[in-house]
Amino acid sequence: MDCIFCKIISGEIPSKKVFENEHVLAFNDIAPQAPVHAIVIPKQHIASADEINRFNSPVIASIFEAIPKVAKECGLTNGYRVITNVGEDGCQSVKHLHFHVLGGKKLPEKLS
Ligand code: AMP
Repeated sequence: MDCIFCKIISGEIPSKKVFENEHVLAFNDIAPQAPVHAIVIPKQHIASADEINRFNSPVIASIFEAIPKVAKECGLTNGYRVITNVGEDGCQSVKHLHFHVLGGKKLPEKLS
């Protein structure tokens, strides 16, 4: 499958890993939009949050269990933001479900 994030999972594309377990991988974003910008992904290929269903939803719990560990690893002791972009209007550029973890400064109040 021609998916950048699947290639990061397989090691075909290098990444700066910040957390990994059986179901989840987190790595630094290549073009950070905040002092800390990690990407948290399921190892299972799910195209976007719009593809979450009762069969694959357990991995979403795994992701949200991993996020506090990612935040701790990245030194985010004063809060952070978790975002997932979905589809065309959401400006999703990589079609593998991912959650941006942003922090390291006071983030803008408005999201759009
Ligand atoms: P989105 O626009 O929500 O689909 O976010 C995709 C994110 O993946 C962007 O913030 C990109 O900078 C990031 N990204 C794309 N390719 C890589 C890569 N090879 N390593 C790390 N982050 C990447």
